[in-house]
Amino acid sequence: MPDERVRRLLRELPSIEELLQAAESRGLLGEYPRERIADALRIVVEQSRDRLLRIAPAEATEELVAGESLLREAANRLKVESQPRLRRVLNASGVVIHTNLGRSRLAPSAFARVEQAALHYSNLEYDLAAGARGSRHDHVEGLLRGLTGAAGAMVVNNNAAAVLLMLAALAEGREVVVSRGQLVEIGGSFRIPDIMRLSGARLVEVGTTNKTHFSDYERSLTDDTALLLRVHTSNFKVVGFAEEVPVERLVELGRNHQVLVADDLGSGALLDLPASWKEPSVASSLQAGVDVVSFSGDKLLGGPQAGILLGTAEVIERLKRHPFARAVRVDKMTLAALEGTLLLYQDPASARREIPTLRYLERGPQETLRLAERLAELLGELGESAGIKDAAVCVRESVGKAGGGSLPLLEIPSHAVALRSGVEASRLEAALRRAPLPLIGRVTQDELWLDVLALDEEELEEVANTLVWALRQGPAEDLAGD
Ligand SMILES: *Cc1c(COP(=O)(O)O)cnc(C)c1O
Repeated sequence: MPDERVRRLLRELPSIEELLQAAESRGLLGEYPRERIADALRIVVEQSRDRLLRIAPAEATEELVAGESLLREAANRLKVESQPRLRRVLNASGVVIHTNLGRSRLAPSAFARVEQAALHYSNLEYDLAAGARGSRHDHVEGLLRGLTGAAGAMVVNNNAAAVLLMLAALAEGREVVVSRGQLVEIGGSFRIPDIMRLSGARLVEVGTTNKTHFSDYERSLTDDTALLLRVHTSNFKVVGFAEEVPVERLVELGRNHQVLVADDLGSGALLDLPASWKEPSVASSLQAGVDVVSFSGDKLLGGPQAGILLGTAEVIERLKRHPFARAVRVDKMTLAALEGTLLLYQDPASARREIPTLRYLERGPQETLRLAERLAELLGELGESAGIKDAAVCVRESVGKAGGGSLPLLEIPSHAVALRSGVEASRLEAALRRAPLPLIGRVTQDELWLDVLALDEEELEEVANTLVWALRQGPAEDLAGD
């Protein structure tokens, strides 16, 4: 039984109708539909009632039932609800292809293609020369063939879909041989054995976790073998006593026994990367003679989320005809972004200059040092004019990563601005995530580190502004707003 004072306060809670009238007089009704305001009011009144019943009687204040504060809370709610949840962030994590932050940024010219495709009608499936129905695959197929030398090409929604389609179309009801060392989980729910089951193909595991030999594959072949699948172990490495069979040897085995060979490359680099990265390229896989390769559009390629399939004309034709193809088909904005990205690859120098993912990965420590020094300088200037005195900033050598399940062990030399202030680093890091333009940094040894590897030069001022914003919030503020 609530005490007398709480009961009085509960009675004093205004009705929704009274609150709506007050909202009207404050002009809230003009900003939102009446029904939405009423919904918001109902929620905040309900919350106040719950709180009154839960808290100690001494804490039950008039504030909890005041029309003014209920209205303010409802107005805040409406404002938050009206803001997009999917928002831009500044990536100072030092991870270039950060899956949680949207993997790759598009090159501006690729984005321009998306804008056109999204705002206007297009010849998506219309053959302008013939005046008849065309195929959406045509737009990037020629480009992909030209860039890679593959005879056939197809694009689907993402690489997970590409692998599923390969397995279903080429091996449903039959056997697919995979090395035990390659039965990977890529993250979330993408696991090779699960995808295999879903596709209707039967998994035949060969070898051991660390070593699989040619003879293991050879012995596994039966009349029911449809496919030899290689999966690039893109997000981990087995080091030490380890052995995989090179894809050339799998092709040799496949040819001798009329079994197809598929290669899930994961990242799919189209340009030559430094040899020390040991990332298999699309070209090397195709040259080895595999029947089909698949890779993501938004990893090392630096384009939109997509799954790209390249291979023999006959295999690609089988993939296109499979019923799954429609379920995993690529949408027009993705196609536009991919075409824009691939056009840049026609001149590798442009690709390296214009595609953010490639530019960041190849920046080098001199460039990251220059950017970090510039950021430190901006922080000094802005901090001073904002009256922030207790922050110590310095530039430190940092180690960036490719990320996105690409090149897991590769350390990319980079630089970060490290900051110590009156606010504990972990609290500052949390406050930055809640800034109007959220900034994602990391905490290293009680310092806040802002790595410049995946930042554009034009973003440095925004980074500095966000940091100054967070420092001015003071130590207590970062807990508010949940
Ligand atoms: C990333 C990856 C996938 C999944 O690709 P998505 O584009 O994320 O669907 C599949 N296989 C490998 C080897 C990968 O690295």
